[in-house]
Amino acid sequence: MPLPITDDQRALAESVAAFARRAAPMETTRATLDGWAAGGRPAFWDALVRQGLHALHLPEEHGGADAGLAELAVVVEQLGRGLVPGPYLPTVLTSAVVTGAGDDGPQAELLKAFGDGATGSLVTGAGLRAGKDPDGWTVTGTSAPVLGLPGAEVVVVRAEGSDGEPLWFRLAEATTATVRTEAGTDLTRSVGRLELSEHRVGAGDVLSAPAPDLVDVTTNALLAAEAAGLAGWCLGTAVEHVRTRVQFGKPIGSFQAVQHKAAMLLVRAELAGAAAWDAARAVSQPPEQQRLAAAQAALTALPLGIDAALECVTLLGGIGFTWEHDAHLYWRRAISIASLSGTEERWARQLGEAALATDRDFSFIDEDDLPELRTQVGQVLDEVLTLPPDPVSETGWASARGGPRKARLAEAGLVAPHYPAPYGLHAGPEEQAVVAQEYARRGLTPATTIIGEWVLPTILAHGSAEQQERFLAPSLRGDIVWCQLFSEPGAGSDLAGLTTRATRVAGGWSLSGQKVWTSSAHEADWGVCLARTDPDAPKHKGLSYFLVDMSSPGVGVRPLRQATGLSEFNEVFLDDVFVPDACLLAEPGDGWKLATTTLANERLSMGNMLAHGGARLVRQLIAEGTHATSREEAVRVLGRNTAREMSLGALNLRSVLSRLSGQQPGAEISVQKVYNAIAQRDGSRALLTLLGPVGALTAPSVDPAADYARDHIALPSVLFGGGTIEIQLNVIAQRILGLPR
Ligand SMILES: Cc1cc2nc3c(=O)[nH]c(=O)nc-3n(C[C@H](O)[C@H](O)[C@H](O)COP(=O)(O)OP(=O)(O)OC[C@H]3O[C@@H](n4cnc5c(N)ncnc54)[C@H](O)[C@@H]3O)c2cc1C
Repeated sequence: MPLPITDDQRALAESVAAFARRAAPMETTRATLDGWAAGGRPAFWDALVRQGLHALHLPEEHGGADAGLAELAVVVEQLGRGLVPGPYLPTVLTSAVVTGAGDDGPQAELLKAFGDGATGSLVTGAGLRAGKDPDGWTVTGTSAPVLGLPGAEVVVVRAEGSDGEPLWFRLAEATTATVRTEAGTDLTRSVGRLELSEHRVGAGDVLSAPAPDLVDVTTNALLAAEAAGLAGWCLGTAVEHVRTRVQFGKPIGSFQAVQHKAAMLLVRAELAGAAAWDAARAVSQPPEQQRLAAAQAALTALPLGIDAALECVTLLGGIGFTWEHDAHLYWRRAISIASLSGTEERWARQLGEAALATDRDFSFIDEDDLPELRTQVGQVLDEVLTLPPDPVSETGWASARGGPRKARLAEAGLVAPHYPAPYGLHAGPEEQAVVAQEYARRGLTPATTIIGEWVLPTILAHGSAEQQERFLAPSLRGDIVWCQLFSEPGAGSDLAGLTTRATRVAGGWSLSGQKVWTSSAHEADWGVCLARTDPDAPKHKGLSYFLVDMSSPGVGVRPLRQATGLSEFNEVFLDDVFVPDACLLAEPGDGWKLATTTLANERLSMGNMLAHGGARLVRQLIAEGTHATSREEAVRVLGRNTAREMSLGALNLRSVLSRLSGQQPGAEISVQKVYNAIAQRDGSRALLTLLGPVGALTAPSVDPAADYARDHIALPSVLFGGGTIEIQLNVIAQRILGLPR
């Protein structure tokens, strides 16, 4: 259920799902497949109206519940998941758009009709031209295919005036207006074209024109919500099938290729839900935000609905391709709604153009919330700005080493505000957002401890009071720089297979072995090291977690040159390195638990900028005019890369809001991790397509941000960190979807 995030929305979703099962069981839908194309009210319509599902979003004075589009989207998602046939989606889409245009004049009559349960359809595509004369308007032309038009009781039309201004009107019955019923791809709904021939529109039928961005975002949010519902069904159906279908003597869900397909289905369903959710929340935001969210919903959620359906069919095998299986009905609906929304090319262009002007706002607190904290943080940051800048390291991914500024920030708890006092401010998501906003307001980059971001929370959670005292404050000040001595030549993805040994000696342990790919080891003062203390225990149980002084005798560091030409990671040789008992974290044998602890109080990840292939680089390329393609193509790539960033921004915001409402993080955390890597890979690849000859140049001497080809070559640091894409898909398949090993 990717859309609901509050308890009320979850309860609503459950009750709608139950309604769908009761009112529109699949056998009934299938038994009357021939009838849906004609439109009209289905048998369950009165029950749906009695439940108020048609009027959640309508104003109270017209029989509605005045709930927002977010609630309506939850209903659409669930009815989509149940493949409820008939005119629900076109009806609420029409009434939601009419609501957005106000409720004076004929609009009020329309809203009353919708409140009373009338079905509706919205004709907005190209094809209808309006001409004005002294007596009013005349409209002529044939519309593009329209969902739910045949059988609709209320038809709202948008025609193009000769001056480009739109004319909105309700359709009155007349011989000059014909609804032509078409054979739809979706077999469970009507679709048709409106043919108008010199059709007169009386003044009493002319409607106020809703704002174009509001129309787009309302329409696309609801279509995307349905796509998310369809994708959810595809995921559930495919997972259930692969768990039980046996081939080669075992369930096919135990094959890794199948597991990865199923895991990617979950990713698709979550992304579609996040895009729909983000568009629904944009309805009450300024037009430029609506423009971004509308295009994102169409560009991301609608194609994902089709992809999810096809992937479901492939996981089902031959049975999924039969007429008898329901999969094709979902597939057909996914194709239908994606097609009706317009071309992907159009939405990519719209998103790109919108992203040239502004970013999607994913903030969840106002700029003046928590004023006392704001003042307190602001005073420290203003003071920091008066101090000399901290030295910047020439090597390494970024400088963790401190200086006067970092020291002051650490003293004020602003290096890791989410830590408890005296190290941080015990800041929850809202307080962390305030701190981030105050940093951003002053153009300051938030301080980081780089590898310490993983190490220090582990010391906080599992270290003794002495260890915390000894390491936390100096690390936050930047006096101690950390590295992570985990991977070995023989133990990468299979980290628990590591062979570095720690043997007992007087007063401590002796460590011997080899580590590899150790970021920042050449500049680190201390390292956290996983080593095997009990070779007889099962491989995950015999590991311990040590804090190693990198200046100890026996530690050898050999920098490795990466594909980028830079040397940021290393081989580390441990030859009989003495580590005192005071530097063992927790108990012997606790190493794996410590290494994999997901810390409840994780730092809130702010924003959605991708290090590689992000919108920023494409925007820069367009501004420079150095792309080898047309500007239109560059803008489309910007649109697609922005869509990836917005997907992550929406997933991120949803998980923050869930946390704030007391929910445990759900699948979105794993989806965020794996999609972050995929988005950077695909975005960076898309960037390459714009370069032409510029891609043949690497420019280490100029601004590294302009070194587009190296942006791509540096990708592995984000593709492997925290586990490769494949390992993360294994985790999703086995731990979240419960597929057999
Ligand atoms: C830039 C960079 C910085 C790094 N920094 C550090 C660091 O500071 N400290 C540290 O300890 N490590 C670090 N690493 C190491 C990183 O954690 C490992 O590279 C990663 O875990 C993969 O291990 P590997 O390189 O041995 O590849 P392998 O494990 O050999 O994997 C090779 C390929 O096989 C696939 N594969 C392996 N097992 C499976 C499986 N079960 N199912 C499906 N596919 C599988 C992988 O997905 C991958 O595509 C860094 C790596 C990079 C690239």
